[in-house]
Amino acid sequence: MKIKCSNYNILINDWQRLLELVSSDKYSSVIIIVDENTKKYCLPIFNKKIKDDIKIIEIVSGEVNKTLTTCQIIWDMMLSYSVDRHSLCINLGGGVIGDMGGFVASTFMRGMDFVQIPTTLLSQVDASVGGKLGVDYHDYKNMIGIIREPTAVFIFTEFLDTLPMAQLRSGYAEVIKHWLISDKEGFDTYKYANLKDHDWNNIIVESVKLKKKITDSDPLERGVRKILNFGHTLGHAIESYNLSSTLPLLHGEAIAIGMILETHLSYQNNSDNITIADIDHVAKSLILIFGHHPGMIPPLSILIAKMKFDKKNKSGKIKFSLLNSIGDCTYDIEVNEAMISKAVDYYKELKT
Ligand code: NAD
Ligand code: ZN
Repeated sequence: MKIKCSNYNILINDWQRLLELVSSDKYSSVIIIVDENTKKYCLPIFNKKIKDDIKIIEIVSGEVNKTLTTCQIIWDMMLSYSVDRHSLCINLGGGVIGDMGGFVASTFMRGMDFVQIPTTLLSQVDASVGGKLGVDYHDYKNMIGIIREPTAVFIFTEFLDTLPMAQLRSGYAEVIKHWLISDKEGFDTYKYANLKDHDWNNIIVESVKLKKKITDSDPLERGVRKILNFGHTLGHAIESYNLSSTLPLLHGEAIAIGMILETHLSYQNNSDNITIADIDHVAKSLILIFGHHPGMIPPLSILIAKMKFDKKNKSGKIKFSLLNSIGDCTYDIEVNEAMISKAVDYYKELKT
């Protein structure tokens, strides 16, 4: 199965094509970047299907390590392995490895080919599509980076078998986001409760196609690509507020709260096509999977301050991507504090 993007392909469960690429005479050498989890769970599968004599660069997992310091470690390892511009870099891991490994490969000797093999649901349906690469800097997420396309993306659904349920659920938030912004039928059709029973092959292909359609039409995020931020303006602020708590929210859990709040903002912005029943439907579906966490939302002043800090905003104005209706989204909508306060009250008062 192949999904064609502008200059590269996303291949689903295609070990044969990956083998051909890795064995190609085109490359002077091949390296693979892993973390301790993908080394344990995914590399043995890769080695069995492809080959086991590829040079490995292992980094420590986690968003806290998505930094320039880790990039330097990788660049140093590349030098010690005599990697050159004609080598191929394979990024075997979740979004952290994909974003950072892609950035490292794109800048090493002004750029070498790299292949993304996303191993989490989130990276399969979201991070590996669209060419955004980079690392965090100080407190800013993805502050240093570039947009550059990979040579190919290879998605293997069998990697999801070892993924912890919480991570699977977190990635599912992005699948739901793609439905909410561009596919009403998808949102209405799927059963939400038992993630283990899902037909992931089908869901991933459909979700990648939805994201790809948006990024292809606006690769540099000048306009319509902003709709992919639905749920993320408030979601990021909630995620960042809870980062230092003993049990921080996973990205998808924070985005799920963000999507409920921003569906309420969508209703306040345009009640012709979004009804209270729609908000209730979105809220119930999301709470069934992600639970109800009113205590995780910071006081309004902190929430607003955090959103003003977001690099996507210009001159202190907070702009949102909001739904026109379920399955259709627009962007650059200015929202005031009273509206945010109403949305938060709605969430807090939800009966579950
Ligand atoms: P992650 O890369 O941290 O992976 C989550 C955890 O799962 C890690 O501990 C990892 O080691 C482990 N893991 C990975 N695959 C596994 C497997 N098959 N079995 C068992 N464990 C496995 O997190 P993520 O959710 O994949 O990605 C989050 C990152 O993606 C963030 O840094 C975010 O900024 C980025 N992102 C980028 C884009 C983009 O457009 N580039 C879009 C969305 C998110
Ligand atoms: Zn996200």
